[in-house]
Amino acid sequence: MTTWRMMLNRLPTRDNLKKKRILTTEEESKCNECGMGEESSNHLFLLCPKIEEVWNEIQRWLGIPLAQPNHIERHYDMFINLGNKKKIRTLLLAIWVGTIWMRWKKRNEKCFEGKDWECKNLVLEIKIKLWCWNRIFKIVEEEIDLDSWCSNDIICKIF
Ligand SMILES: [Zn+2]
Repeated sequence: MTTWRMMLNRLPTRDNLKKKRILTTEEESKCNECGMGEESSNHLFLLCPKIEEVWNEIQRWLGIPLAQPNHIERHYDMFINLGNKKKIRTLLLAIWVGTIWMRWKKRNEKCFEGKDWECKNLVLEIKIKLWCWNRIFKIVEEEIDLDSWCSNDIICKIF
């Protein structure tokens, strides 16, 4: 089991807190953004309408059609395997991890500070974060300016 899988399973999501009896009612374990599903990692990172919108934007950014499996591990496998070259897969991995991480950060800001967030802004934050990571870690060797990086269909522009 990879580190991120263990990490996702151990996140203090509301369903995990209910299993540990820290939260006790159905109502308390609901997602506090859409109020529809129980807040599990599948819901937070994949099924919540707010994150669905984010993945749709990411899809436009990459310029690759994405399937929407309903389990986070299958989503990961599908996402990473969209690339056929090692470099693309490394970039996809960074984008996937970045998206999950930023989404968890937004969830906590909403939970603890009552801050709302918008899909478009989050996706822009993800793009900028990835651009910075790329400058540090050279995921993609080509120098690319921030405007081009943030435009749609980057996979075919870069590779
Ligand atoms: Zn939700």
